[in-house]
Amino acid sequence: MPSAGYTREIPQRYRLEAAKCASCGRIYYPPRLVCAACGGREFDTVKLPDTGKVVTYTVIRVGPGDFAEEVPYALGIVEMEGGVRLMAQLVDVPLDGIKTGMPVRLEFRKIYEEGKAGIICYGHKAVPA
Ligand code: ZN
Repeated sequence: MPSAGYTREIPQRYRLEAAKCASCGRIYYPPRLVCAACGGREFDTVKLPDTGKVVTYTVIRVGPGDFAEEVPYALGIVEMEGGVRLMAQLVDVPLDGIKTGMPVRLEFRKIYEEGKAGIICYGHKAVPA
């Protein structure tokens, strides 16, 4: 949900920038301040590949709040090339056409509009590659 920090995160999300731990090489998306694997605090900025595959997915039939009008939709865990996993809505594919292992590509798209204020939130959605 939008918060004071939301706008600051947009460029980072748009560029698919991830943080790579300088000590152990683990990659985090979204970036974090302390490495969960080694406790390191030094990170290099790396760009995630925008292609990957569906690891698992769920079809959401009762949407929370702002997503209520969009159901049913599919929410998937996508493993990007290189092994980083992230969650993304799966679009441009019929719900019964989604398969585990399916190659996908991330596209930057509108996620939802917030109420009457018309605040539009953007993020990545996965489309068939
Ligand atoms: Zn580390």
